[in-house]
Amino acid sequence: STPAVMLSAMAAAARGGVLFKSSAALDALADVRTVAFDKTGTLTQAKMTLTRVVADDEGAALALAAGLEAHSEHPIAQAVVTAARERGVTPEHVQDAQAIPGHGIEARGADGAVVWAGNTRLAGRNGAALNAAQHAALTELGSQGSSSVIVGRGPQVLGVMGVADALRPGIAQALTELRASGITHPVMLTGDRQEVAQTVAAELGLNEYRAELLPEDKLRIIGELGAQPGAGRVAMVGDGVNDAPALARADLGIAVASGTDVAIESADMVLMRSDLGKLAGAVRLARDARRTVI
Ligand code: ADP
Ligand code: MG
Repeated sequence: STPAVMLSAMAAAARGGVLFKSSAALDALADVRTVAFDKTGTLTQAKMTLTRVVADDEGAALALAAGLEAHSEHPIAQAVVTAARERGVTPEHVQDAQAIPGHGIEARGADGAVVWAGNTRLAGRNGAALNAAQHAALTELGSQGSSSVIVGRGPQVLGVMGVADALRPGIAQALTELRASGITHPVMLTGDRQEVAQTVAAELGLNEYRAELLPEDKLRIIGELGAQPGAGRVAMVGDGVNDAPALARADLGIAVASGTDVAIESADMVLMRSDLGKLAGAVRLARDARRTVI
């Protein structure tokens, strides 16, 4: 049976908004040295706003993007749909919309042609190439830490849009405390562009990040991180449907409560107030409980 000291540590953690689903999860946390963090919705708030439209016909580009994103649940989608509504732009009607994980969304326009909104990978899939100005816009947005959406019709790029997200309040401090508590190896994982990842990682003082990841890449990287010398046990913190496999694979999956149900179900531990500032204290609690039991 579970030692009393572990039960009381779990109860204390729960009062502080940290839910361990089992005593094994608490015990695993005592050995964690490596923590992989999803970016969007975990380190950031995933409350995105449209900040920029680069297009010959901004209204047409936004209308198509909003028509497509109305069918998506990605945090980028809500920013695009809201911006169109605020600007009085009527979303273009699309049909057979389909989310393509790690890429964006594809559908058919009124004339039956393929229309799409997503990243450069999705543009590539549609045989669409960005011109110099569009490419420069992506790079500039990335250097500001902003994500982007490219919208197109078949092989034609109609526009590039910037969407900005805000870091969770206190997140840099939370990471500093986590390092002080013995998490020697924090890593950011994201499906977003390299430039965006680099900018956000620098703002957070994170030395290591992996960008442009597909959901299956996150899963694979969790395994690789654990194989590195001195890695200790590996925890993954995430919020999305796309994070669920990595949360399940990690020695300790940690979900933020603002995330999706599937992330919460796949995790071993839940940050009930989505406050990553609680992690360092939880690590200390787990190590104290371990010492007391042994
Ligand atoms: P993440 O949440 O870490 O960005 P995802 O796997 O959800 O990871 O998405 C990877 C990338 O695919 C995103 O960064 C974005 O560029 C693109 N993407 C996914 N869904 C959409 C969408 N609905 N609209 C625009 N881009 C999208
Ligand atoms: Mg996320």
